[in-house]
Amino acid sequence: MAGSCEALGADMRFKQKEKGRKLKTWLITLLCLMVIVPVAWVCFIKFEGEKPVIELSPLPAVVPAKFDITGKVHDARSGLKKFQIALCRDGKETVLLDKVYDGPPGWLKKGRVIDDVFKIPVSSAKNQFLDGKATLRFIVRDYSWRDWWNGNKTVIEKEIVFDTKAPQLTILSSQHNVSQGGSGLVIYRLSEPCVKSGVMVGNDFFPGYVGHFSDKNIYLAFFAVPIGHTNEKRFYATAVDAAGNSTKSSFYYHLKKKTFRKDVLKLSDSFLNTKLLEFQDIPGFPSEKPVVDQFMFINSEVRKKNNQIILGNGKKTDPQIYWEGAFGRMPNAAPRAGFADYRDYEHNGAIISHAVHMGIDLASTQHVEIPAANNGKIVFADYVGIYGNLVCIDHGYGLMSIYGHLNQITVKPGDMVAKNDVIGYSGTTGMAGGDHLHFGMFIDHIFVNPIEWWDASWIANNITGKIKEVQTSFNK
Ligand SMILES: [Zn+2]
Repeated sequence: MAGSCEALGADMRFKQKEKGRKLKTWLITLLCLMVIVPVAWVCFIKFEGEKPVIELSPLPAVVPAKFDITGKVHDARSGLKKFQIALCRDGKETVLLDKVYDGPPGWLKKGRVIDDVFKIPVSSAKNQFLDGKATLRFIVRDYSWRDWWNGNKTVIEKEIVFDTKAPQLTILSSQHNVSQGGSGLVIYRLSEPCVKSGVMVGNDFFPGYVGHFSDKNIYLAFFAVPIGHTNEKRFYATAVDAAGNSTKSSFYYHLKKKTFRKDVLKLSDSFLNTKLLEFQDIPGFPSEKPVVDQFMFINSEVRKKNNQIILGNGKKTDPQIYWEGAFGRMPNAAPRAGFADYRDYEHNGAIISHAVHMGIDLASTQHVEIPAANNGKIVFADYVGIYGNLVCIDHGYGLMSIYGHLNQITVKPGDMVAKNDVIGYSGTTGMAGGDHLHFGMFIDHIFVNPIEWWDASWIANNITGKIKEVQTSFNK
């Protein structure tokens, strides 16, 4: 009996011990969980490693005397803590911004500011920054506990070049005698390469081109004087450098006023009925309306769009002068209409439309060969509404000639042509009553009077003479 009692006691002691061990394991596990979970949580949340983000608005590589640095900073997880912008130059640092953001309201919560925008004005005069290279440094930190409670850090560096001086523009050409509807040339020298330079005629800008002279600072700018231009709107040359510094230089000029012809064109029903058929497929053509309305649509809206297409070729110009000597006039041709003729269109005794004729109409016999007026490159050869089949030749530096109403075109864009090369045959395509050539010239985006370019002495006095003068006096 005694043996069995002893065995029972030992069993009970073993069970108690077992229970105590289980409790201990459970308590340890609980304790562990109570410690590990918060620690893990703190590590995950408070020691997060996501870096703040700087979004810098584009800055030009070359900056002027005054400019703004703008952008955004962002930190989604811990919130923004510090943001510093400094300009470093020759080992010297100038702090442009030093901002500290509000901290977390409780030690477990994240910073108050997630997003911020910045706009920092920089003035080289105020900060005594000299022209030349410098580095902009952006440092942003967040409220993470990483890096010994300093937070995650993002650093951006951006190289800039200060250019605080406006370019100098010196006019080299003299005596600019121009006419309403005419052409002109200004030759100037720039003190530094510029992103844009040329001549302003009122609100019209004509770019200058480099490369004609061995001196790479000398530019040629051909310009047009619009037919209605008056002296109230001044002419001047202008240049803008990469940093945005700009300069203006006035030049002496004399503007001759011109009177242009007035003309009345009578429209017969048979002309309208035949001609308007050609335009039926033009978008917006009012086919359900009377022929008079259809003509008005073609003569105003379509004319405007056609002119835009033609003048848009001005931007395709090459930076070299292709032409030489006086421009050729269609041989054995009688003039039918002049440059800048103001036309009233009459139908059944009533004036129904107006237009200004920005070229010269020349007629000889039917389907006659049309020669190129001067050397150049074909930049356009296609059908253009009222002008019919049209060829546009680039003579370089923005000077172009056009040939309209052609029956047939024999050249294609990219072809080089010499003066008198045949480019097509005359015809009546477009708004043409009889077989004739519509010859026009323009500079950059404005039609000019071709009569000047047909005249060898005008060219010598106003263009080539000036180029020679600059060549002798300044291109050294
Ligand atoms: Zn014409």
